[in-house]
Amino acid sequence: MIPVEKNKEYYAEIESVSNDGNGVAHIDGFTVFVPMCADGDKLKIKIVKVKDTYAFGRIEEIITPSPYRREPICPHYKRCGGCNLMHIDYGKQLEIKLNSVKNALSRIGGIDGNIVSDIIGMENPYHYRNKMVFPVDIVAGKTEFGFYANRSHDLIPVDKCFISHEISVPVINTVKKYMDLTNTSVYNEKTHKGTVRRLFIRKGFSAGDVTVILCCANECLIDKDLLVSLLKESCAEISSIVLNINKKPDNLVLGKKNILLWGKEHIEDSLCGLRYKISPHSFFQVNPIQTEILYNTAIQMSDLSGTEKLLDIYSGIGTISLTASRFVSEVIGIEVVEQAVLDATENAKLNKANNCRFFAGKAENIVPRLMSEGFCPDVAIIDPPRKGSDENTLRALAYSSVKKIIYISCNPSTLARDIKYLSQNGFAVQKAMAVDMFPHTSHVEAAVSLCRANT
Ligand code: SAH
Repeated sequence: MIPVEKNKEYYAEIESVSNDGNGVAHIDGFTVFVPMCADGDKLKIKIVKVKDTYAFGRIEEIITPSPYRREPICPHYKRCGGCNLMHIDYGKQLEIKLNSVKNALSRIGGIDGNIVSDIIGMENPYHYRNKMVFPVDIVAGKTEFGFYANRSHDLIPVDKCFISHEISVPVINTVKKYMDLTNTSVYNEKTHKGTVRRLFIRKGFSAGDVTVILCCANECLIDKDLLVSLLKESCAEISSIVLNINKKPDNLVLGKKNILLWGKEHIEDSLCGLRYKISPHSFFQVNPIQTEILYNTAIQMSDLSGTEKLLDIYSGIGTISLTASRFVSEVIGIEVVEQAVLDATENAKLNKANNCRFFAGKAENIVPRLMSEGFCPDVAIIDPPRKGSDENTLRALAYSSVKKIIYISCNPSTLARDIKYLSQNGFAVQKAMAVDMFPHTSHVEAAVSLCRANT
């Protein structure tokens, strides 16, 4: 018998916050998840969804607030789906994230989660993002940029975002002004009519330059020169203005075609003392301050002596390869996005890292091929996207000459799944560390080092 009913109210005490940011309570032993809670909150809740083994509730009244509750700095916090932990003290957020990595490694990975020694947080956990993507819609008759409400495509207009770089405020206002002056239409996801789909802004923190990319469903943007002159006037840091075309009815952030309206093809940033050119389609870590900490942690874990051959799998624009190149004899980077590989090759030249080579293609094809062609790496650093690595890649590593693997991940569940595979195929976990790359959200980054079990 399920002890809760939809639309009925109950009293609940929050016992913990799960890794996706929901409070966890039990009502007569039945698990109920309640968003926007903190440990120890005493609440009146309404049940909004009931499943076989758990239910979802909504806060109706906070009877006694948790000692970890804080007033969120952002006025959009309640409706915007972005920062689901902003109501919790930052120190407590770090504890929740550290536990989420530990729990995933022990529950899914089958190893002792206490191997994760610590989590490194930010001194100032605001305005840390260098890249923001704002969808656009008509709200109350006006063109608005903002974020989607949690689990929906309802746009919450946002003039200021407390985790993104402050450059987004003048850029959003200027693009809105341009669209109003020229009567430029907004793309409608249902009818597939209209032009502007979203606004992408990326700032290089060190050099200070900014790229503004207006993603549109067609090339018929009215008076492009006006857009360029308004943007240049509004913000001197803008160094590149791009029109991106995505004609397909998908949810991809950017389409394949870029038309440079003004300025440079790349923006620049630096990490760990090296310079990088970054193209619009290339991945670049969103929090450069914490990225340096993450990379230094990974390099320390690698224990490099200067003679090793290193394989950097999922290498993006070559940031890990180039950082590590100073401590090894040779690096090969593997990355699926061709433009990112071109950026990586150019970045190696820019930084005189002559011992780095990059290959474009899927890791699951290239890693086994490199091994079969006789490449004998000593160390592999792997940094896959959220879905994790795959068995072909991991198997190739297990049967290779690699003595040490550093696995960097932004998803504790897939990290734990892959660590389990490696642990069952000749590797033993040595060290693990979490780094908070995404304060106020429930996302967390972790680095785990593994070595051959018999060495
Ligand atoms: N190590 C880089 C990039 C990490 S993000 C950095 O720190 O910046 C993950 C990268 O994996 C992205 O650049 C993405 O394009 C790439 N990628 C995704 N799937 C891939 C695959 N199957 N094979 C190779 N690269 C892939």
